[in-house]
Amino acid sequence: MSDLTRLSAAALAERLRSGEVSSVEATRAHLDRIAAVDGAVHAFLHVSDEDALATAADIDARRAAGEELHLLAGVPIAVKDVVVTKGVPTTAGSRILEGWLPPYDATLVGRIKAAGLPILGKTNMDEFAMGSSTEHSAYGNTHNPWDLTRIPGGSGGGSAAAVAAYEAPLAIGTDTGGSIRQPAAVTGSVGVKPTYGSVSRYGLIALASSLDQAGPVTRTVLDSALLHELIGGHDPLDSTSIAEPLPDLVGAARLGANRDLSGVRVGVITELQGEGYQPGVLARFHESLELLQRAGAQVVEVSCPHFTYALAAYYLILPAEASSNLAKFDGMRFGLRVEPSEGPVTAERVMGATRGQGFGDEVKRRIILGTYALSAGYYDAYYGSAQKVRTLIQRDFAAAFEQADVLVSPTAPTTAFKLGEKLDDPLAMYLNDVATIPANLAGVPGLSLPSGLSDDGLPAGFQVLAPAKADDRLYRVGAALEALLEDEWGGPLLAQAPELEVAR
Ligand code: GLN
Repeated sequence: MSDLTRLSAAALAERLRSGEVSSVEATRAHLDRIAAVDGAVHAFLHVSDEDALATAADIDARRAAGEELHLLAGVPIAVKDVVVTKGVPTTAGSRILEGWLPPYDATLVGRIKAAGLPILGKTNMDEFAMGSSTEHSAYGNTHNPWDLTRIPGGSGGGSAAAVAAYEAPLAIGTDTGGSIRQPAAVTGSVGVKPTYGSVSRYGLIALASSLDQAGPVTRTVLDSALLHELIGGHDPLDSTSIAEPLPDLVGAARLGANRDLSGVRVGVITELQGEGYQPGVLARFHESLELLQRAGAQVVEVSCPHFTYALAAYYLILPAEASSNLAKFDGMRFGLRVEPSEGPVTAERVMGATRGQGFGDEVKRRIILGTYALSAGYYDAYYGSAQKVRTLIQRDFAAAFEQADVLVSPTAPTTAFKLGEKLDDPLAMYLNDVATIPANLAGVPGLSLPSGLSDDGLPAGFQVLAPAKADDRLYRVGAALEALLEDEWGGPLLAQAPELEVAR
């Protein structure tokens, strides 16, 4: 394997800048790696070899001509298939969008292109980002590079697996209830859900508009900060976009790498540990807390009593919004169109046939749930109550952030489970997100980084949460913990992953 694929994005960018390697070489190395391992991992739904190499060649030429380029120019990236890319297939993991070619780029894709990052392709995901294992993709499973018989997390399992399998140094994910952080946790990668409104949602295929947020998936905390700064910031095309500039994320990550957290108050959330959490996940979590303390942080325990109801509130609010967002997939406007096998071809019957065939079981389940929760007579009891719980959760966060600068918990209660293990049990699947969902309900940012290997030899995740618009705190604390842990491990955790068998 070419060692170009083993470099962090920051290190690769450095070599590109110095002229030691070209973007064409770096991009080709990643495309070769995809060709070698993606048959087994299946992180990608679509690989854009030609476009990626053309961008790389353009960047090399511009660099040679002395042009001032973006720091990450020439570093390849993978993009979750829920983000629209002009002229490149975008399915959101659903049959209903098979064959659809978007006529425009999402804002974040526009920024990636303007900065000159070759886009390697589109990554696999649970259909419309509903799931925690990527098994709800209509296009087959993605496999966890640590153990191919296990799930890579979800919904963004493709992006996390691509990064963990060295198919891409950078990837884009989206997080509505944990779909960046949980896949990062179970694959030993780093993932960040930014503050709601700090990365444009223009061009994301909406799951639940009040919860969705795009963000970075990488192998290092610094790489996430670099990518976050590239895609973030105000966008007039997104009405919920925050007008102020982002805090200095890269500066915070560099500061954190000094391993000094004196004066930083770290709040351990009482409700996000204990029953239901795997002992090895908790053990790694507590060891990480000790490291933070040794670095000067003051660790306190804080209670967020309403977090216990977060999952229940989420599974009313999300289906409600999703049922409305998915109404546009009607067989008339995008992708698949199925005519009824017999009888008259009316608009309503085409809609029924298209949605019946185009949507998978989990999507149908949530549309039915959401439609029910919003229906007259039930609205106040279900949707209305869930919104009240959401407010209580926001108040819990506000109170907790009076006592602590960041809050922490394990990212997911367990390590990667076996493919198929939870497929027939939606509630067991939903429970994977107990620790990640509160942040989406409150709009606050969250980061997951690897905390070590659990008793089963699989990666566990450590989550850091910060107040809205204080994403820089995630990077300072995350980079400090990453540095301290790597001192213990003698290098990155991913270096301990078994080598994948390479197809020739
Ligand atoms: N697993 C959660 C769900 O199924 C989160 C999904 C997401 O963040 N997109 O809804």
